[in-house]
Parts: sequence; C-alpha cells; structure tokens
Amino acid sequence: MTARSMGSLDEDDRVRNDRRLGVNSSSGAHPFRPACLLEAVRSGGMAEMGESYVDDDAMEHTAQLTERIYAGECPRCGQSFEAPPRLPGGSRETRCRCIPVCSPCSSDEPDASLSPWTWPLTEAQILARDAQQQERMRPAEPGIIAVDAEGRVVVVTKSGVTKAALRPNPGGWAEFGYDDGPDQLESEGR
Ligand SMILES: [Zn+2]
Ligand SMILES: [Zn+2]
Repeated sequence: MTARSMGSLDEDDRVRNDRRLGVNSSSGAHPFRPACLLEAVRSGGMAEMGESYVDDDAMEHTAQLTERIYAGECPRCGQSFEAPPRLPGGSRETRCRCIPVCSPCSSDEPDASLSPWTWPLTEAQILARDAQQQERMRPAEPGIIAVDAEGRVVVVTKSGVTKAALRPNPGGWAEFGYDDGPDQLESEGR
C-alpha cells in the first residue's frame, strides 16, 4: 500500500461523502467505506495474482465497484438494491461488513465466498447462485431444535439427529458496534 494511492482514494471519498450521506447496509459496523472495499480487493488480488499483482488494477477495480454501489447496484452481481426502506445486506468479505450487497448475494456468501477482486459474478455464477437459492427454499423435513446430552445444538427429524449448522461469528455491528461516520479519518478527527 502506498501513501500516495491511499491519498487519492480518500480525496474521492470525501467528494462523494459531501454529496451523499453514505450507503448503509443492514449489518455493517459503519456506513460503506471505499477504503474497506479497497483492502478486500487488494488482499484478494494479491492472493490470486501473486508476483504479477498490480496495485493500480486494484485501485481501478475498487473505483468501478464503488461507482456501482453509489448508483444503487450490487457490486457483486450488478442487480439493483431493493427499494428503501429495506437496506442492502453487508458483505461477509470484510469483518466490518460495510460493503452493501443485494439480498440474493447476501444469502449466497456463507456458501460461496468470492473475493471482491473477482466481482462481479459471471453469468454462470449468478445462475448457480439462483439455483442454490431455489434449493434452500424447498421445504425442509419437519424437525425440532434440541440440545443433546453433551450440550450440542441438534436438529431432530424423522430420519435422525443431526448437529445444527450454526453460522459463524456475524462480524459487522453485531460484533463491533456501530460507528456512524462515513469515513475512518473523519471519525478520527483528522
Ligand atoms: Zn448481488
Ligand atoms: Zn468497513
């Protein structure tokens, strides 16, 4: 990360934040911050590209995804966010969960983690996501939630007892609380 490149992104952020109050997601620890998206794009890019990683590409890609978000589109798939008052979900690709994503992407992420470096999804990935969603919506076998003798949460159905699949740590405001500043530097008083 270079100071110069961070500087130019921060200036862009300021201009945008003057124009708008920021984009909130239902689970973010703060309003959307392009700097958080940049971090996620960078780490994904470095992991995938290795030696041939170019930071300017990450900056450029982040700028494009940011434009999408401010235009009201999901940066992961391009679909429009649902109309207010419903808030977009918060992507699980950052711990703060401030990157807004549409609701199909939000429910897809626990099963299909994809770095923002590779966003937007291809058409095939979108179809796979939607097929998964259909699958999930099929009525499950009726069951009850119980706690077994060892204190584990289990689901009891006609066909047996299975350990309940509990989602991992939520991140976002549920874990870190909420900071209403649109910009990290601003909230630090700089
Ligand atoms: Zn989406
Ligand atoms: Zn963030």
